[in-house]
Amino acid sequence: MADNAPTPLDRLYQLQEVLLEIRTKSEKRARTPDHLVHVEAAFQDALLRHNEGTARLKSAEDRRTVLADEIADLAESLKKFQSQQKAVKTNKEYGALLNEIDTVKKEIRTREDEILSLEEVAIEARKESESHDDSFPAEAAGYEEQMTEWRAEQAALTEEVDAGERKAAELRKHIDRKLLSVFDRIAKSRAGIAVARVSMVGSQTAACSACNVRLRPQLLSDLRLSKDTIHCESCKRILYWDARLEV
Ligand SMILES: [Zn+2]
Repeated sequence: MADNAPTPLDRLYQLQEVLLEIRTKSEKRARTPDHLVHVEAAFQDALLRHNEGTARLKSAEDRRTVLADEIADLAESLKKFQSQQKAVKTNKEYGALLNEIDTVKKEIRTREDEILSLEEVAIEARKESESHDDSFPAEAAGYEEQMTEWRAEQAALTEEVDAGERKAAELRKHIDRKLLSVFDRIAKSRAGIAVARVSMVGSQTAACSACNVRLRPQLLSDLRLSKDTIHCESCKRILYWDARLEV
C-alpha cells in the first residue's frame, strides 16, 4: 500500500481534471442552449433590421450634408462667374463664361435632384425605423426575459470556471516545471488529455486508458516501481498508475 501523500503524477492528473472541467464549462457557457437557439436567432434578426434602418438613415443624412456643402461651393462659383459678366470684353469670352455658368447651374441642379430623392429615402427609412423602434424594445425585453435563466446559468459557469482557474494555478505551483511543460505540450496536441490512467484489463495485463493499447509487462513493472515519468509507447501520453487503485 502506498502512503497517502499525493505524488507528482497525482497532482498532474488532478490538474488535468480541473483543466478539462474548465474547458467543458467554458464551451457550455459559449453555446446557446438548443431551446433558446430560435429565440437568439429571431432577436439577432430584429437587431440587424434595427441597425440597418439606422445605418441607412445615417448614410442618407451624411450624403445630404456633402451635397449641401457642394451646392454652397458651386453657388459661390456661380456668383463669381456672374460678377465677371460685366467685365467681359469679347463675344468669345462672353460665350465661354456663359458656358461655365451653364455647367455650374447643371451641377447644382443634379445635386438638388439627388437631395430630393434622398429625402424620399430618408422618409421611408425613418418610417421603417420608427415601426422597428416601436416593436424593438418589446422584442429585446422578450429576448432578455427568455434568456434570464440562461444568463444566470452562464454567470454560475463563469464563477466555476474562475474557481477552476484558481485551483489550476495553485496546483501548478506544486508541480515540477519540467513535468508541467511536458504535460502542456502533450495536452495541446491531445485535446487536453496528456495523462492517461493505466487500467488493468486482465490479471497481469494493463492498458493505456486513452488509446487502449496494452502495456508491455516490463513497462507495467517499471511504472509501478519507477519514479520517472513513463510514456505510453503508442500515444506518448504520460502514464498514470494510481497506486490507490492497487489492492
Ligand atoms: Zn496510449
